Amino acid sequence: MADGDGQGFDESRLEEVVRALVEGRMRMHEADRVLGNANAAALARRLALERMLGVSLSSIGSTILDFEELVGRNIENPIGAVQVPVGVAGPLRVVGEYARGDFYVPLATTEGALVASVNRGAKAVTMAGGARARVLRDGMARAPVFWTPSLEEARRLIDWVREHMDDVRRAAESTTRHGRLLEVQPFQAGNLVWLRFVYFTGDAMGMNMATIATDAAARVILEGFPGEARLVAISGNLCTDKKPSAVNVVCGRGKTVTAEALLPREVVREVFHVEPEDIEFVNRAKNLMGSAVAGSLGGFNAHIANIVAAIFIATGQDVAQVVESSMGFTWAEVRGDGSLYVSVTLPSLEVGTVGGGTRLPTQREALSLLGVAGGGDPPGSNARKFAEIVAAAVLAGELNLLAALAANELARAHRMLGRRGR
Ligand code: NAP
Repeated sequence: MADGDGQGFDESRLEEVVRALVEGRMRMHEADRVLGNANAAALARRLALERMLGVSLSSIGSTILDFEELVGRNIENPIGAVQVPVGVAGPLRVVGEYARGDFYVPLATTEGALVASVNRGAKAVTMAGGARARVLRDGMARAPVFWTPSLEEARRLIDWVREHMDDVRRAAESTTRHGRLLEVQPFQAGNLVWLRFVYFTGDAMGMNMATIATDAAARVILEGFPGEARLVAISGNLCTDKKPSAVNVVCGRGKTVTAEALLPREVVREVFHVEPEDIEFVNRAKNLMGSAVAGSLGGFNAHIANIVAAIFIATGQDVAQVVESSMGFTWAEVRGDGSLYVSVTLPSLEVGTVGGGTRLPTQREALSLLGVAGGGDPPGSNARKFAEIVAAAVLAGELNLLAALAANELARAHRMLGRRGR
């Protein structure tokens, strides 16, 4: 018996632990300490669950992951891994500030037709000269909420922070080499105060970095403020992390990124078999009017979440952040010469190329496919390049779905690609 590093561990000890788990004499998380090896503990938990529940977990157990590397960083109580198929869409030409060239975009999904959809959009965008893309804003936010006894005291707290920004910044930045405090956006409701700390986080998505830095800053504020104030929660929901919110749409979070393409009428006809006017009208009726009537919060698009989620899974992003990262706006207009201008804008795309799940072997390979694995030179350039590619892929996906709807071929595509032609 060997663990992921090829070092042996005691098999008889393993059986003892499995029995203890099955009989409830040991808790799942204790297996790591008792066996002294995270891979052995994963196996023990898996075997125990198989015996307790009469199920087979052999597929979950088949993994290249070395839990010695991951426990304490990425996962607790591991039993194996799930696999999600990865396809590529491309080549997709991107003409960004950081991303320049033709890219093959990795998409991890089980939705048949999704990769084909982005692929066809990429073909049209590339034929038209590529997607131009820009990161408009770059800042990860963490907003602690403070209690004070009154609205007057709350106002004094905000004023104090404004007057002591140098001390606050020093405390925050003392916790990180790459993080830089860009601004503190104050919000007040009665006696409560939210301070929305916004950081440049280099190539990291930055949520841990921002939280650790804000914690240090909050301590300096509470020690220095001469009035009465209490930290209620380091995250006061005005950040906003993993929840849809207007503040992320208006103020941005992570990268605010936009991409556009100008498609000649012939390209639209050749690739999509529709006219530019058809796509423009579907966009207006569906993405703009339909979303307005639905009371949508930042969802004025066709299926940005599809592309964002598939890229996030493939590249080790924090998948729960698809909530705000897939908010966005799709625009289409027919120009005087009959060409079709399309753009997408994602106000709150939270991506990184270091940290979190980006270090896992398959996810890192997917990032390397785009030439963005690890830290960039200068720091932050890889994450911005990645954001531009994501926006371009989203543009391709939006364009294709609008065109498919315009041609009334969506149901047929799903029949063909999602149900093996039945
Ligand atoms: P992280 O792995 O916690 O931090 C990034 C690390 O990479 C830092 O230690 C940083 O060092 C280092 N680093 C090296 N080269 C870098 C470069 N070029 N640019 C930036 N940093 C570089 O990752 P994170 O992005 O801050 O946080 C992501 C994780 O937070 C994910 O696992 C996510 O699931 C989780 N998360 C946490 C919270 C929370 O509230 N804590 C909420 C949501 C998600 P320096 O700091 O010294 O620069």
